[in-house]
Amino acid sequence: MQETFKRMSESGTIRREDLYFIWEQKDFSAILPYKEFIFNILIYLDILAEQRRYDTITGSRLPVENFFVPCMVIERNTTSFMDKECTPERAICLAFLFKGTIIPPALPNRLISACLSMWTLKQYEERTLLFSGFIGLSFDKSHDIVVCVEGNKILLYIVHKTSSGLIVPDIATGVKECLVITMERISDFYQSTIHAKRSQQSPFHIEYSCSQMQCFISETEAVQTSEWMCDKHKLTHNAGNWLVWNQDKKKEECEQNCPGLSDDALSQIPSDIELLRFSTNCVSNQMHELVSYLEMSKKWDSITHNYPNDIEVAKYLVLSKWKEIKVQSNFKALAEALTKMDISTHFLCQVRRERRAETDLPLEFLDCIPTDEILDKLAPQIGQVYFQLGAVIGLSIGTLETIQSNNPRDLAAQNREVLFAWRKDKTVKPTIMVLIQALVNIGKGARCLQEVLKNVDLKTLKESEEVRGEGAISKEPKNTSEQKPHGKKKKSKKCSIA
Ligand SMILES: [Zn+2]
Ligand SMILES: [Zn+2]
Repeated sequence: MQETFKRMSESGTIRREDLYFIWEQKDFSAILPYKEFIFNILIYLDILAEQRRYDTITGSRLPVENFFVPCMVIERNTTSFMDKECTPERAICLAFLFKGTIIPPALPNRLISACLSMWTLKQYEERTLLFSGFIGLSFDKSHDIVVCVEGNKILLYIVHKTSSGLIVPDIATGVKECLVITMERISDFYQSTIHAKRSQQSPFHIEYSCSQMQCFISETEAVQTSEWMCDKHKLTHNAGNWLVWNQDKKKEECEQNCPGLSDDALSQIPSDIELLRFSTNCVSNQMHELVSYLEMSKKWDSITHNYPNDIEVAKYLVLSKWKEIKVQSNFKALAEALTKMDISTHFLCQVRRERRAETDLPLEFLDCIPTDEILDKLAPQIGQVYFQLGAVIGLSIGTLETIQSNNPRDLAAQNREVLFAWRKDKTVKPTIMVLIQALVNIGKGARCLQEVLKNVDLKTLKESEEVRGEGAISKEPKNTSEQKPHGKKKKSKKCSIA
């Protein structure tokens, strides 16, 4: 028994049997007959969260052995993640400030459990970033999320791999909305238990941090003032600074007060996915001029010769080559080329935009890892996009070229290898939703995958899903495809699949 408690406070996990064992004591005799039901209620209330595991070969979900119990974790965060990774150069921050001097202690723990069910727990310095009042998660290959509690504040950080100036606003806005909805849902529950009517006012308000992530300004004030100087650092911020948290996802062009890429962002070398977003936005007949300013004309000729029918691949490849061989291959060089072409440098802002994928597929499928069968059937359908797909899912050009030469003139086999390589990588949980987002990112769209899923035996997926516990209580209404998210009590669809 002591072992169990020790493990809970150290690793924050418990096994189902262990909890049943605890309940076998006299004091819990009222609970024991309903142990499975009570256990599932604890999951439903975000007091326990599943630690999901997948079969790396078939992608099917394995029975859940361990459950996270954030409320039992007493260890504090002693890793250097906040000092080394979550720095003002690479991260942005906002605070949810609660009225009153402290936050009800159960709320952060339930919020942490909810985060665990949405995103992948991050590993850092060989430890998982789950501590008392602190959690670190991987959103995708470029973005990490940190949620932590400090006094009457819950702080949210979005950390980018290279520069805070390159954080995709659609992602920051989505994560913020998601946490707001989750916290309102949790607070609503507490209010309902004390029979209080849901007050019109939210129990917290939002504050944005200064660029040093230490001073804060309330959201209401921030939208009213055009300029704000923070107390401690005397740094001036303008309204454009908060756009990252409030991206209008439908709007494609920059907002009026868009400050463009920051100096720090301009000095960065674009990642593959950023280059891909840039190349997708380049108009084909402008490429000739662009490559001449980048001194890549000869390479462009040979690449277009090799890919005569696929200008999209050629556009991306020539920019990848440019990044590989030129010394100063940063965003600034691209900005200068654009200026010479008389194109606004706000064109570069598009590398930070991502269209969030929308889909009618039921939620329970979105969270599954695609099986071999699904990937096999999808591979021949996606066509000549494997360079782009490879870039989006984080494979290097070198790897992609090897795959290509291993499978000459066999597009389906090339795509298949890319898809399987993606599923093997566990930085981000390789779910069907992530795959849908990747297909949208490369401009292919998700219809091909939806078609495949129609003809695939979804019972297999569902069966692995059912392993999560007999009689598990679904947090979502059945038939999600027909149900529009209404009210704020349920997690919105966007939220749980973000
Ligand atoms: Zn400051
Ligand atoms: Zn802009």
